Amino acid sequence: MRYEFQILVAGLVVAGLLLASAGATAWWAASVQKGVLQQSHADQVRAAGSVLAQSAEVLLADNELSSVRRMLIALARERGLQRCRIVLPDGNVVADATPSSITLRELPAQWSGAATVVDADAQGSAHVFPITVPGRGNARLEITAEAEIPAGAYWPLQAGLGGISIVALIAMMILYRHATSSLGGVLAIRQALLSRQGGQASLEALEVSPDLGPEAQAWNSLLAEQEREHKQSALQKTTETVTSHRGSSDRLSIACDVLSQGLILLGKDLRAEYVNGAAAALLQTKREDMISAEVSTFIKDERVLAACRASTAGPMPRRMIVEVERCDGEATTLLRFIVRPVRREDIGAAMIIVEDITQQRVAEESRHAFVAQATHELRTPLTNIRLYAEMALDEGKNDPTVVGNCLNVINQEVFRLDRIVGDILSIAEIEAGTLSLKKNDVRLDEVFPELQADYGAQAAEKQLKLTFNLPPKLPVIRADRDKFRLALHNLLGNAMKYTPPGGQVTVTVTVDQGRLVIDVADTGIGMNEEDRQRAFEKFYRAKDDRIATIKGSGLGLAIAREVIRLHGGDVVVQSELNKGSTFTIGLPLTEATT
Ligand code: ADP
Repeated sequence: MRYEFQILVAGLVVAGLLLASAGATAWWAASVQKGVLQQSHADQVRAAGSVLAQSAEVLLADNELSSVRRMLIALARERGLQRCRIVLPDGNVVADATPSSITLRELPAQWSGAATVVDADAQGSAHVFPITVPGRGNARLEITAEAEIPAGAYWPLQAGLGGISIVALIAMMILYRHATSSLGGVLAIRQALLSRQGGQASLEALEVSPDLGPEAQAWNSLLAEQEREHKQSALQKTTETVTSHRGSSDRLSIACDVLSQGLILLGKDLRAEYVNGAAAALLQTKREDMISAEVSTFIKDERVLAACRASTAGPMPRRMIVEVERCDGEATTLLRFIVRPVRREDIGAAMIIVEDITQQRVAEESRHAFVAQATHELRTPLTNIRLYAEMALDEGKNDPTVVGNCLNVINQEVFRLDRIVGDILSIAEIEAGTLSLKKNDVRLDEVFPELQADYGAQAAEKQLKLTFNLPPKLPVIRADRDKFRLALHNLLGNAMKYTPPGGQVTVTVTVDQGRLVIDVADTGIGMNEEDRQRAFEKFYRAKDDRIATIKGSGLGLAIAREVIRLHGGDVVVQSELNKGSTFTIGLPLTEATT
């Protein structure tokens, strides 16, 4: 623990400083005390020396040299002097605390020499005192006194200082313990902050020991609070994301369910992760049975399965299209499977799009048949026109009746051409959504007699009984005359076409409760259920062998219904196979149409 080491180092430094200052204090105090003791000793020696010098002057004047010598010995012993002697100016020692050092045994009667000058500022252990022996001469008392301080002189001081140091150390240890508990917390928090700044983000790593004191506990609770807030905001964010994601995915799945195409999302393991309603319906399987199921459990066609495997496995998955025919009893359904990877970086996920293209295929076939039929229909009248024109030119010079017959045929073929081209144009307009009406007043009491005249000869020729049941008074309607007539022609033309000779075609017009109702009934081949339902589809022709020899494009009913619907009405059919059909136009006689 770094902060503990820091505290330990700090404690040792403080203890060292304390001991060093205690030692320095002890040394300084001892040296001061030593100086004081030496000074006091020197003062005592100086005082004793002064007294001795005065006494020696008196005793030497009385020639009491031996007494002086005894005094010196006694003083040296008493004061612990290293040297104590009386020296004459010529250097002879007449008295000494060490008798062997005496050089002159007897005191001369008189001697010469200047008096000793004493340096007042003299310091140290050597002391000199002038002696003037009356009637004899000058001398000097030399004393050397090295102060000997006993070993125990300092111990009270040392003991006192040691005691103070010990007390200080104990106090410091108590302080250290206190500092460890409070400063330890602060240092641990500091270390945590530094590690956070260094990139440490884990809150567990930033926590400190709660034993380090209240600061540490406060820090930990601060971290816990921050952690709680962090989790709360993360949870809130996640909830918001999930909610918005769930909302958008719900909306997406609703949108996918509305699609008429089937959608199946496959995972890497070829199991369905998502299936929309149309896919379940097209594959005739329950959606819940498909979810999480392996693709081969609900798609049996080997080509589709191979496409799925290729799309989920290969590094370069591409779109693959497989068309599968399925027999449901008598009906045949054509399904198109488009298998494609969801996105390039997510190798493994694939989307299967399923479409029912039965209608589309039938329409395509009808369109091709229509093109072939239209080409044939256009070519036949053109060929006839060319042949009859040549005949009129060649033989007309000789026989004028031939010209008349030829022109008559040419005229009929031109009408036929006009009808075919009109059909093609109308269907093109329906396909483009641009079929529009040019409304005028249309007198129905003119329209139906014209219709009767147009088909009268054809009916007689085909040995059909054509009847018109018209009310005594027919209204005038607001309508597109040409298109309205075209719709009537298509219904009546079909009745004539699909009724074998000897049959009957009846047109009945009624005006009832503001509605114009026109029934075109025949006793012809009729239609089965499927043909009846699909008769109004563009390019649709019944699968009846009997109509294969009858010319048609599959457009007449589609055009008729579209035209009547543009007028605000509708066309419906009732039919029974081999018995006949009745097509009914219902048109409201509103202000717009009357
Ligand atoms: P087409 O040019 O083939 O007559 P239509 O659109 O007029 O095209 O009619 C579509 C199909 O409906 C026909 O091919 C025929 O099979 C059926 N159909 C129409 N009118 C009759 C009818 N009066 N009797 C029986 N079948 C009919």
